[in-house]
Amino acid sequence: TLSDRLADTFRNLRGKGRLSEADIDATAREIRIALLEADVALPVVKEFVAAVKERARGEEVSQALNPAQQIVKIVNEELVTILGGETRRLRYAKSGPTVILLAGLQGAGKTTLAAKLALWLKEQGKSPVLVACDLQRPNAVQQLQVNGERAGVPVFAPSPGNGTGDPVAVARESLEEAKRKLYDVVVVDTAGRLGVDAELMQQAADIRDAVQPDEVLFVVDAMIGQDAVNTAQAFLDGVGFDGVVLTKLDGDARGGAALSIASVTGRPVMFASNGEKLTDFDLFHPDRMASRILDMGDMLTLIEQAEKTFDQEQAAKAAGKLLGGQGEFTLDDFLEQMQQVRKLGSMSKIMGMLPGMGQFREQLDNFDEREIDRIQAIIQSMTPAERANPKIIDGSRRARIAKGSGRQVSDVNSLVDRFFEARKMMQQFAKGAMPGLPGMPGM
Ligand code: GDP
Ligand code: MG
Repeated sequence: TLSDRLADTFRNLRGKGRLSEADIDATAREIRIALLEADVALPVVKEFVAAVKERARGEEVSQALNPAQQIVKIVNEELVTILGGETRRLRYAKSGPTVILLAGLQGAGKTTLAAKLALWLKEQGKSPVLVACDLQRPNAVQQLQVNGERAGVPVFAPSPGNGTGDPVAVARESLEEAKRKLYDVVVVDTAGRLGVDAELMQQAADIRDAVQPDEVLFVVDAMIGQDAVNTAQAFLDGVGFDGVVLTKLDGDARGGAALSIASVTGRPVMFASNGEKLTDFDLFHPDRMASRILDMGDMLTLIEQAEKTFDQEQAAKAAGKLLGGQGEFTLDDFLEQMQQVRKLGSMSKIMGMLPGMGQFREQLDNFDEREIDRIQAIIQSMTPAERANPKIIDGSRRARIAKGSGRQVSDVNSLVDRFFEARKMMQQFAKGAMPGLPGMPGM
């Protein structure tokens, strides 16, 4: 798996300041192969790998994770973002029935999906109706009726007076029926062909214009592989859609189609269908799909644990120091906190954990990353004794430290001043402003 291969790539690599270009290239190669094996379309692979490389370049080596884990984490986050971030919910109409139009190739699973979705909506407390607008396939209407019956959901099918033979008229009539019978969600099943087909695409677009759907969902077979991009693009141009439903995820497809479609169309995957039973249906979970695509579930669990442990240790340590519980706050602690700040992206996260620190949040959010680099260089040019007991840092030591870190003596002065100010502030907090955090030692 990708996780194993990355672990090999990085066997000998730890504790570097930044991921090197060679490390990033080696990783990028492995990710590229893994994505292609998962059937992600080549242009999407290229774009994705470039984005990951770009981000990896900018990133400091994490203290909590080894480089392989760190890159997998970046890859995972990028995948989840492209797949739609948080699961997107259906948009319901503000008044009148909500209309959901299903579009996709023949065999994609639209008719099956229509019934699954209707059952799911019913469980959400809605009262849906299924509309049979596939008048192309001889038994399509009957198939929907059978499925609807299984789901316990009414089906609106063409009959004399209900727009016989004309799917656009059937769709239009179904809205009237929904208003009459107080159905609140109308799910419209449409026809598809085996390949992209101009005539049926136009028919779907005409139905769309007739019913003005709140959501158009593009239904696509997860096994479609490399064709996913072209098919999705054709439906985006021909009908347009707001979200994607992936079907047949119970097959052995690794899910590359999901990434290709989401990446090329910018539309989120919203639902997943994973079997022939009506209940084989769920909201789509981008995080689960991301680990399926790269086969890295175990690695992600490890990463989560490593980070949690690390953060807990750091927070406990910082809190203990801040509150005067475990000896004095030193320059090493100061540096460690700065690094932690960068890792978490914003100091407000750390400080926000302590009551009374909210007032500093704005300043902390504006924290300059390069400033952390400068502070790090200066502190690293100090001896362990100086870091532990900054009071001994006199004039000649300051000159030496400035030289060692390539900074000015005034920079060293201002850092030392800032350190003492920070320590004083923390001691004040420890004394009065934050009386008795529960469970902290030494209070
Ligand atoms: P449509 O032409 O888009 O309406 O597709 P259908 O709903 O008729 O489905 C085509 C075939 O795929 C049928 O045999 C379904 O039983 C099957 N099918 C649909 N969804 C799934 C799924 O999630 N998993 C599996 N294994 N089969 C599915
Ligand atoms: Mg069908």
